[in-house]
Amino acid sequence: MDFIDLRSDTVTMQTKEMIDAMIHAKVGDDVYGEDDSVNELEKYAANLVGKEAGLFVTSGTFGNQVSILTHTKRGNEVILDDSCHIIQHEASAGAVISGVQFRTVESENGILDPEKVLSKIRTEKDIHYPETALICLENAHSLGKVIPISIMEKIYQGAKKYNIKVHLDGARLFNAATSLNVDAKEITKYCDSVSFCLSKGLCAPIGSVVCSDADFIERARKNRKIMGGGMRQAGYMAAPGLYALKNMTKRLHEDHEMAKYLAKELLKIPGVLLNMDDVEINMVFLKIDTKKDIKKLREFMLKEGIKISGPDLNIFRFVTHYFIRKEHVDKTIKVLKDFLG
Ligand SMILES: *Cc1c(COP(=O)(O)O)cnc(C)c1O
Repeated sequence: MDFIDLRSDTVTMQTKEMIDAMIHAKVGDDVYGEDDSVNELEKYAANLVGKEAGLFVTSGTFGNQVSILTHTKRGNEVILDDSCHIIQHEASAGAVISGVQFRTVESENGILDPEKVLSKIRTEKDIHYPETALICLENAHSLGKVIPISIMEKIYQGAKKYNIKVHLDGARLFNAATSLNVDAKEITKYCDSVSFCLSKGLCAPIGSVVCSDADFIERARKNRKIMGGGMRQAGYMAAPGLYALKNMTKRLHEDHEMAKYLAKELLKIPGVLLNMDDVEINMVFLKIDTKKDIKKLREFMLKEGIKISGPDLNIFRFVTHYFIRKEHVDKTIKVLKDFLG
């Protein structure tokens, strides 16, 4: 990488092993179910999260949306956190594709109160009411927080009583598992379906996998076709994804440690405000109290070869990943100090 890129873990490039996996992938027509690499990825992924079957999709958004489409009927209600990715960053796809109504619940930095969530379930039959069909959770949350398993369990068990399904947006599921120091299965026990990204911190080029029971995946496979997501020789993308699941999930703690190191060094700079306890995965959120025009920071950093995004409502988000090493953090700190004078 030519730049120190702290914008996101989606910017990660592929390792040599992944390129090799692509070149040597055994492929076929996946719409006919004949792509060995896709089949192997789907099977491995499902097993990894303790579900019966998997479905390879093009993106995290696709994974969430095909899951919502499969879990719901038009006019159903979906309960979810006000700050989650499905609400904030998926361009109303649930309304466009599935025709569902979203009912949001406010959370504490992504941490939902189970009682508040469950109280939104519509239990009475009334012609005015939509039918609640689904609750969506997110772990790790895109605000950088890891949701305690006990909270997921309470919501899942509560929803079950009303036969309401739970979908987990696990774009960064393996970051959550790493942070909690548990097997991913311990988290996905408390959802009916899960979608996780291969192309974020895991460094694969493209794709997410949706996992659930076999019947759900069969229906989701048809819905993926309806959404135009039936791919042919997709094994070229599945093979590096499989490599990523087997290998890159085991090193995410390095990114988390790097984020902690970055946060610790940032805190030494006068004016930087952040909460060390909030650094649970590979993300650092910070505010900078300064007389300087903070909107100029991005340009200043770029001239020094560092890419950042924001600020978003005065908050910056720095993300560590495979391509961010200690010397990159040290340079970032130095450049930020230079900017602040
Ligand atoms: C990145 C992300 C997604 C969507 O991923 P895309 O591949 O960009 O569509 C979904 N949910 C969360 C929490 C994410 O961070």
